[in-house]
Amino acid sequence: MIKVSKNLEDIPNSLIDRKTETRRNTCIRDNKYHQKKDFHQRYKQRDIKESLQSIYNKKCAFCEQKITECTDNNLGEYSSTIEHYRPKSKYYWLAYSWDNLLWCCHRCNQNKSNNFEILANEVSYEEGFKDNIHSYTQKYQELEEPKMIHPEIESILEKLSFDNGIIASKDERVKYTINNCELDRDSLNEKRQTIIDDFRESIIDKKLKNESIKLLLKTLLNEFKNKNNEFLALRY
Ligand SMILES: [Zn+2]
Repeated sequence: MIKVSKNLEDIPNSLIDRKTETRRNTCIRDNKYHQKKDFHQRYKQRDIKESLQSIYNKKCAFCEQKITECTDNNLGEYSSTIEHYRPKSKYYWLAYSWDNLLWCCHRCNQNKSNNFEILANEVSYEEGFKDNIHSYTQKYQELEEPKMIHPEIESILEKLSFDNGIIASKDERVKYTINNCELDRDSLNEKRQTIIDDFRESIIDKKLKNESIKLLLKTLLNEFKNKNNEFLALRY
């Protein structure tokens, strides 16, 4: 998991158009999110997907795997989905909020589901919230102290460790995030292990030839800097 930056002023049009506004108002009026196709469709509009895909460099917000678009009835391990950081089932007024939408793989999305534990006071809808409906996350983080890490707010690079590709952390909130999305699942551990193995082999090869490993380290650094690469946290 790596921090990404999102411009909260650059809100996709579909999140502020009349149709979405109508759905948002209905959810607020009824104090619940409506689990219906015409409500789901409003946060799945093309411009929203394109913006998220670009911000997240076509990778999952949590596991950092490359993901691609699929139809809703053909979702697999590498399918992209739009994830609500604060679950829309509970935080119904945030179903169409720009800072609550993440680009996420189908697996991480399914694993996270509606799990969202907090350490402080739960916020509920209040009149006037609509004024800043696309940029409440920062304020809500302070009030609720969620255990789940928000990839647009926090960098957890220093808190992660990778033992043979197996992701782990001593930090309770990072641990919660790992467990919640199951970021230590076998398929991910194996992929990360392959990257480590390849690097190890390159070092051994250089050593055998009595060559400097300086260039290898430089390559590794460049691989970390290239935002399009998978598993940047591991490379870091
Ligand atoms: Zn994922």
